[in-house]
Amino acid sequence: MQDYHIHMDQQDPLSSQRNAFYIPEHEGKDALYFCGNSLGLQPRGVMALLEQEVMDWRKYGVEGHFHAKNPWFSYHSIVTESLSRIVGANPSEVVAMQTLTANLHLAMVSFYRPTKDRYKIVMEAGAFPSDQYAIESQVRFHGFEPDDAIIEITPRHGEHIIHHEDIIDTIERNADSIALVMFSGVQYLSGQRFRMKDITEAVHTAGAMCGFDLAHAIGNVELQLHDWNIDFAVWCSYKYLNSGPGGIGGLFIHDRHAQNPDLPRFAGWWGHDEQTRFLMKKGFIPSHGASGWQLSNAQVFQIASLRASLDIFDGVKLEELFSKRDALTAYAEQLLLQLKEDMPHIPLEIITPKNKDERGAQLSLLFHEHGKALIDKLLADGIIVDWREPNIIRLAPTPLYNTFRDIHEFANRFGKHCIDLFGEQ
Ligand SMILES: *Cc1c(COP(=O)(O)O)cnc(C)c1O
Repeated sequence: MQDYHIHMDQQDPLSSQRNAFYIPEHEGKDALYFCGNSLGLQPRGVMALLEQEVMDWRKYGVEGHFHAKNPWFSYHSIVTESLSRIVGANPSEVVAMQTLTANLHLAMVSFYRPTKDRYKIVMEAGAFPSDQYAIESQVRFHGFEPDDAIIEITPRHGEHIIHHEDIIDTIERNADSIALVMFSGVQYLSGQRFRMKDITEAVHTAGAMCGFDLAHAIGNVELQLHDWNIDFAVWCSYKYLNSGPGGIGGLFIHDRHAQNPDLPRFAGWWGHDEQTRFLMKKGFIPSHGASGWQLSNAQVFQIASLRASLDIFDGVKLEELFSKRDALTAYAEQLLLQLKEDMPHIPLEIITPKNKDERGAQLSLLFHEHGKALIDKLLADGIIVDWREPNIIRLAPTPLYNTFRDIHEFANRFGKHCIDLFGEQ
């Protein structure tokens, strides 16, 4: 067992991918970076792709819209094919645009159309704040009260994870009054992965719409948005997709809706049919597919940096990525549980589900006390994990650039810091 990490790194078909990234340094050595769930590392290809656009702008000015190497007129489409593979969709169902929260609002304009009787939204309790604010404000915008219109599903008393049966039960019990069910694919705080396909099926049986926030799911877990019949989904690309701070968001609209020009939406000129966009005429004609939800012209620099990361994704088999994810995360979990067994007085509890089908790369470590003091020690030691109030340390081994050695090293140093803080016994 001592050399498990060496063996696993040698066997790893993805081991060379780490060289495609810049690893932050701490005191002259590679830091232990486990925050790919918050901000992915920079692909080495980013600068060249940004430079291409900066230079084309310099060279062509406005003519770059048609004469740049990658014409900006259709620049959003250079990521469509790669994104559609990652989310399991047809290219026509996917568009890179705006940011996650903006896309959530735009999608809700189309898919949350409450009536007097059917106006409720079901969501997970403790959702990421931006999602909570977006949903509350949409409910109010339509003249309803969040307390009445939003049904939050909580973990059972004393637990941290939501039971799948409780989600299905709630949907069935409220079948007549639900307009929309909006869940995350992977919960940002607990790391729980929801059963998107089964939830969608139950929602459709109830006669409502079903959307997902894939912020922590995209690039992290298996997705088949088209086959699962999901109505819409939104994501950001700066977490597991490594597009950099403020990176371009994304939107999925299922083909059965995306081809429907009568679906209400907030429109902008870039969503207008490409053939006639520059005739600058009155009367919005949506282009086919998710691209008909675009508002503005493509955010070229943001899309260029995402392209650099997708070049890496294009070169890997997703099954290999996911199987390394499971192995890395299980290894981290095993070493932490061992530590807990050796030192039962450490007030640590791993709240992420143990079952690999119910989680992605992330482990959430709940500290009943002194968590804040511990994270300060970890950061000072070049172990980059993050802290979520009031008491959770999130650790996300990212299969594209983390190694089994990273985990081994993490567990050793983490153990030492725990002894420092909590004593040997
Ligand atoms: C990261 C994250 C966001 C961030 O929203 P932005 O609009 O990109 O700032 C929203 N929702 C969830 C669930 C997230 O994890």
